Amino acid sequence: MADLMSAIKKELERYNVVSVREVTLTIGKLTNLGAEQMEFAYEIMSKDSILEGSRLVIEEEIIQVRCGKCGYEGPVKNIDMGEDSHFQIPVLSCPECGGAVAVTAGRSCCVRSMEIEEAD
Ligand SMILES: [Zn+2]
Repeated sequence: MADLMSAIKKELERYNVVSVREVTLTIGKLTNLGAEQMEFAYEIMSKDSILEGSRLVIEEEIIQVRCGKCGYEGPVKNIDMGEDSHFQIPVLSCPECGGAVAVTAGRSCCVRSMEIEEAD
């Protein structure tokens, strides 16, 4: 998260930014970064910076894989951890044949877009 914050600030330095309205992040499910955690960290880390008061929008990137055996491409299955269904464990094997897969999406942790106000 600290790396991400400095990446955002670095990006902002390229413009003559007066204020930041919104920052959209893409967070892959495989990064284990929870949205709530991120929002909390963002609030703390944006204090006393140009980012203070801006809104953080988080877009989750689902896990996608490609199977080397049968050629399946798509999302993986999740093991549901009971009633508390927002806690799921992804199964990193092919849902079709159980073969080994290569992860093609779900590892992102990047700034997708920013809404800023520039000075004239
Ligand atoms: Zn397969």
